[in-house]
Amino acid sequence: MDFSLTDDQRMIRDNVRRFMDAEVRPNVRRYDREEKFPAAEIRRLGELGCCGMLIPEEWGGAALETISYVLMLEEVARVDASMAVALSVTNSVVAWPIWRHGNDAQRQKYLQRLAPGEILGAFCLTEPQAGSDAAAIETRAVRSGKTYRLNGTKSWVTNGGESGVYLVFAKTDPVAGARGITAFLVEPAFSGFRVSRYEDKMGLRSSRSAEIVFSDCEVPEENRLGEEGQGLKIALEALDGGRVGIAAQAVGLAQGALEASASYAKQRRAFGKTIGEFQAVQFMLADMQTEIEAARLLVWQAAQMRDAGSARAGTFASRAKLFASEMANRVAYKAVQIHGSMGYSRESDVERMYRDARVLSIYEGTSEIQRLIIARDLLGRTDKARTEKTASRPVTEAKA
Ligand SMILES: Cc1cc2nc3c(=O)[nH]c(=O)nc-3n(C[C@H](O)[C@H](O)[C@H](O)COP(=O)(O)OP(=O)(O)OC[C@H]3O[C@@H](n4cnc5c(N)ncnc54)[C@H](O)[C@@H]3O)c2cc1C
Repeated sequence: MDFSLTDDQRMIRDNVRRFMDAEVRPNVRRYDREEKFPAAEIRRLGELGCCGMLIPEEWGGAALETISYVLMLEEVARVDASMAVALSVTNSVVAWPIWRHGNDAQRQKYLQRLAPGEILGAFCLTEPQAGSDAAAIETRAVRSGKTYRLNGTKSWVTNGGESGVYLVFAKTDPVAGARGITAFLVEPAFSGFRVSRYEDKMGLRSSRSAEIVFSDCEVPEENRLGEEGQGLKIALEALDGGRVGIAAQAVGLAQGALEASASYAKQRRAFGKTIGEFQAVQFMLADMQTEIEAARLLVWQAAQMRDAGSARAGTFASRAKLFASEMANRVAYKAVQIHGSMGYSRESDVERMYRDARVLSIYEGTSEIQRLIIARDLLGRTDKARTEKTASRPVTEAKA
């Protein structure tokens, strides 16, 4: 197995690393404290090609493989996990499904602006009463001539209030269950669209998480993505890719925590020595590095499976997401421990990383949902069967 990166992949990683260290690191603590959305920095990364990495060049994208994409996300998350989730959502669960399921007019209208970072994208599946059980959404879309009217509430919308296009899932046929969900491309200027509030979160404080209310929101027929009834399939397919991105975000966050901890261990002194001379601290660092490498390899494997078009790519994405997200929490815990009281202070980066890590095992499918997917595969059910089975419900793990 070849684990080496190509020259192009190394160049992408190094360019993003340089940008993050020079332009973002100096402000990241302040942005977290002030809950300032890093719009200008994301725009700059968009100009470097980071917002449409998986999109073909004819639609304005960089046409890269998933390995390059995860390298980019890792480098962004190594400094700022909030920026990484904004990019992950735009690339994986908005731009990619528009390219895959959109018609040329939709690609022209939205991808040409998403790919260079001119606008961001948001993914609106979760509702106050429906998270893991995505088929239980209640937002309705009722057709009247050439327009759909959307009514309902979406919660925890990443990039909400900052996006130019919202991929919204709504029921067009409530009695058809999971097969009655349809996807729509909604612009914030459409009448009846409203950001009702922002979540006050534990971590990722410079990322936006909005509640969005649709009140007779008018969406033209040409903004339906795919056919009526295909919405949940589109969402689940997008999330398969999204999970590789979240796993890369976890690896990057953990790598940042390890680097901060190693550096601190070399300079902090106790009992006449640097704390890095104590075996207890060395063992924590060794475990952190080993776990990060294991997760990174799972992420690269999932990326390769995706590019190879494997029918089991979704399962590999779940394995990477499960392990990497839980690993990042263990690593962030140890990073705070190594920093002692400084790790509990807002003066340190690891304090923020510890808070930011917590959501990784919750969003884009909780760890429990990832385990369900992995176990189903292990017991002989393919991803294809999963999609079909999910669509025929009743199952509780639709967001699996
Ligand atoms: C910061 C943040 C950003 C987010 N961004 C977005 C976004 O951009 N777009 C979007 O649509 N959503 C977003 N979400 C929502 C996220 O995807 C959901 O929170 C997640 O899917 C879990 O749903 P829930 O919170 O409703 O938990 P629930 O589904 O209520 O689950 C609660 C608990 O029950 C467990 N559970 C549920 N079902 C099962 C089962 N079948 N078997 C075993 N255990 C089960 C869960 O694992 C969990 O531990 C975001 C969330 C956060 C916190």
